[in-house]
Amino acid sequence: MNNPYLPHQAKIQDIKQETTGDRVIKTFKLVLEEPPYRESFAYKPGQCGMLGISGVGESMISITSSPTQKDAIAFSIMKMGKVTSAIHGKEVGDTLTLAAPFDSGLNFLQVLGLSGGMPTLVSVNKDRFEDALLALGVPRSEVDALRKD
Ligand SMILES: Cc1cc2nc3c(=O)[nH]c(=O)nc-3n(C[C@H](O)[C@H](O)[C@H](O)COP(=O)(O)OP(=O)(O)OC[C@H]3O[C@@H](n4cnc5c(N)ncnc54)[C@H](O)[C@@H]3O)c2cc1C
Repeated sequence: MNNPYLPHQAKIQDIKQETTGDRVIKTFKLVLEEPPYRESFAYKPGQCGMLGISGVGESMISITSSPTQKDAIAFSIMKMGKVTSAIHGKEVGDTLTLAAPFDSGLNFLQVLGLSGGMPTLVSVNKDRFEDALLALGVPRSEVDALRKD
């Protein structure tokens, strides 16, 4: 199993500017440079990674790409301070370090609730809401706990 605390080199494959204004958000697609690590790298929805720039620092950022997408790992980053501004200054072909994956401390249902996904799921799958949660990988114990609320 990979050690998530060890940083690995990751090359920027693509940058997409998502918003303009004071709080710019850019989505960075990264490709891990070491083939054995790239091939064995796996993560779950809701997990995060520590993105770093040597001599500047590291920031915890959520992974926004699907775990089934194997070509690159995406991170949507708001320009806030020292580290995120330095990342925003990077270009395609530059490298960052990535230490991952980490849990955010939120479970799947909390992530859905915070992201606004819960009302969508409920409205789309009202009759089969529990089946939909189980199909999405929510543990049976969490689905059963919802019924008790
Ligand atoms: C589990 C987790 C997941 C995260 N996922 C993402 C993500 O997907 N995308 C993303 O853009 N960020 C995400 N963040 C926030 C991100 O880690 C911080 O914005 C980043 O570390 C700030 O580092 P910096 O060096 O750029 O700013 P700093 O130089 O440390 O901070 C500059 C100033 O901005 C303030 N500040 C910093 N961050 C924020 C903020 N988010 N909101 C309001 N004020 C702030 C600080 O208090 C400080 O005054 C996540 C944080 C955590 C803990």
